[in-house]
Amino acid sequence: MSPEVPSENTATKLATPPTPVSVDVVSKFDLSSPAKALPLPARSPDPSAVISDLVTSYPPKVMRKRRRHIIVNDPQEPDQIEANARSVPGIITTRGCCYAGCKGVVLGPVSDIVHIVHGPVGCSYYAWMTRRNQSGNSVDTNGVPNYINYAFTTDLTEHEIIFGGEKKLMQAIREANEIFHPKAIAVFSTCPVGLIGDDVHAVAALAKAELGINVFGFSCEGYKGVSQSAGHHIANNGLFKNVVGTEDLPEEELTNPFRINLLGEYNIGGDAFELERVFEKCGFDLVSTFSGNAQYSDLAHAQEANLNVVMCHRSINYMAEMMETKYGIPWLQVNFIGAESTAKSLRKIARYFGDEDLIARVEQVIAEEMAELEPIRQDVRSRTQGKTVMLYVGGSRAHHYQALFADIGMPTVAAGYEFAHRDDYEGSRVTPTIKMDADSRNIEELSVSADPDEFRARKTTEELLALEAGGLKFADYEGMMPEMAKDALVIDDISHHELEVLIEYYKPALICSGIKDKYVVEKMGVPCKQLHNYDYGGPYAGFQGAVNFYQEIDRVVNAAVWRFITPPWAKQTANAD
Ligand code: SF4
Repeated sequence: MSPEVPSENTATKLATPPTPVSVDVVSKFDLSSPAKALPLPARSPDPSAVISDLVTSYPPKVMRKRRRHIIVNDPQEPDQIEANARSVPGIITTRGCCYAGCKGVVLGPVSDIVHIVHGPVGCSYYAWMTRRNQSGNSVDTNGVPNYINYAFTTDLTEHEIIFGGEKKLMQAIREANEIFHPKAIAVFSTCPVGLIGDDVHAVAALAKAELGINVFGFSCEGYKGVSQSAGHHIANNGLFKNVVGTEDLPEEELTNPFRINLLGEYNIGGDAFELERVFEKCGFDLVSTFSGNAQYSDLAHAQEANLNVVMCHRSINYMAEMMETKYGIPWLQVNFIGAESTAKSLRKIARYFGDEDLIARVEQVIAEEMAELEPIRQDVRSRTQGKTVMLYVGGSRAHHYQALFADIGMPTVAAGYEFAHRDDYEGSRVTPTIKMDADSRNIEELSVSADPDEFRARKTTEELLALEAGGLKFADYEGMMPEMAKDALVIDDISHHELEVLIEYYKPALICSGIKDKYVVEKMGVPCKQLHNYDYGGPYAGFQGAVNFYQEIDRVVNAAVWRFITPPWAKQTANAD
């Protein structure tokens, strides 16, 4: 029998202009209480049986190891999960390398730094637009160059592997400077550079003295640490040592006291553009974003902000903590993924500054944006409600996107991160109990203290305590597990085998993951949305981003095409019959 084709085209429904709801109606929404996970559907599989099937085909040693990475969630008292540990060889992990975390994630989006990849040409593919970071900078529009479209590499060959690559690196830096005249050049080490022992920092120091521009290197060889997470840490350290605090904002740009830095937002698919729009409407002055749509100077004068707000905790928490110690800037965790989360995060920022006019303006912005968005959300929700989703991505997105799915009634039945640490799952309260292992010890820990000239406490101790008593939590991240449903499965560093078993059990309407497993998933008849690079879509952050996401997910999960694919387990059953 041929699969049933829906009689009504989803796109036709979306084309109907929504009826706006009134601002008064929206202002009565509960946008203050903490996020609550949607409960699992009544007929969900027994999670213990699922876990036993997930690991049963492994050899005993691997089974014991993987078992520690899989938890049945209890949001009240999350169990300890093993994370940030070496992947089992051969397990087909979806993780990336340290260089990818440093260059690809944190530094790559800065448009006017020339990023030279010191290594064989293959590593440079990571340097070339695969993350879909966008930049609004261009010489023609704001006079700031945009080098993101280029891939700069020293193209190491056998000759340099034998005789050393420092001369070639120096030559590349000189050549890049001569052609582009950039404000700064960053150099990224790849695996072979670490193995042959090239000193990229010494070459960078020589080039800086010779050329009179900022040149700095990163020892982010791909093999360092257990995942791209090591590269994030190394990138934070390098930016903090070499860039942050090297420029001052002129007096006339210091008039707005509501100055913030947005940390851990990388402008995938234009997310930062939407957040810039919302911030401007609210009256916040965005000093810098680390590092979506950023330019070098933004990062160089980031110490002028009065608050750091942190999106992707895993990739940038080091920067937030170091800036607080050195400059006295407090930080708050935020989530601008999902309309309700965006509203709550904007409120947090306004409450921190405590200005009545600002608070009123933020409320007005929330009301206007929600009033416009709400009919679309309700319309989409009528077709997505109750459809289930699994998320395996990154070190924060698997958490943040649960809020966006909750907006449209889609419960998350299982989720996990690629490169998170325990605190990203269980919350920052467990940070002091995390033991440092050999892989983490390989990464430099900077010794930071208050700057005698630049440190300025943004709030008095009494003010901070009063804000905390009012519900603001500083330097704190709740983690994914306390905000997930009871009995949802949490799996760290998932393998392809485990993902296939999960799909068979849960038959989710959608999986969010990355390119390494996208087509494995889709061949099983389940749509897969990439949340590293958003496939071809975005923005998904903020209010307009949430609308984009609602509509896209509606089209994806309700597309008839998935019903034409027979998944492997159904074929096996048919053959057995
Ligand atoms: S693992 Fe090493 S060789 Fe591979 S991309 Fe990363 S830096 Fe290059």
